[in-house]
Amino acid sequence: MKIIKDLVSYNNLLQKRNVKDIRMVVLHITELPTLTYARKAAEVLLSGKKIGVCGHYYINRDGKVNQYVEVNRIAQHVFLKNKDSIGIEIVNRGRFPNWFSSKNQVPTEKFSNSQISALLSLLRYLKKEVPSLSEIKKHSDLDRRMIPAKDNPQIKVYRRIDPGPLFPWGIIVKQWEKINS
Ligand SMILES: [Zn+2]
Repeated sequence: MKIIKDLVSYNNLLQKRNVKDIRMVVLHITELPTLTYARKAAEVLLSGKKIGVCGHYYINRDGKVNQYVEVNRIAQHVFLKNKDSIGIEIVNRGRFPNWFSSKNQVPTEKFSNSQISALLSLLRYLKKEVPSLSEIKKHSDLDRRMIPAKDNPQIKVYRRIDPGPLFPWGIIVKQWEKINS
């Protein structure tokens, strides 16, 4: 499949890993309007560090797939599970720009058919490249932490809701079972 290699500036500074140890794919949405925004966010460095937060792959609305981090490097995309996982980010506004407002917790942007078929192609490709992959998870299942809402600290909201209720999770899980069998 066609993947546009566009590695982040700190790719070579990310810790290396053995590809055989990778077990899991974690699905995200960017919760940003465009891939350009997502790229900018990926290049922001963590305070006091020389690396930032980003996934390995990004799927744009037109189905184009960009690679930001090499698979044999550990990317920072999920709380506590980075070491043995691959992060896939799908471009979708999510809760942008009021991520933590109590009144804005349900994303409204649908996923395009191109994005979903690109995701399935990417999953098939990854299973071939990384045969040890067995699990697929939603970011929201792995990070259940809550924080006080921006507009009302009495109410708590999830830090991570992605990929969200509009994502065709059932279809992806079914296809993943096929890819894995
Ligand atoms: Zn996420």
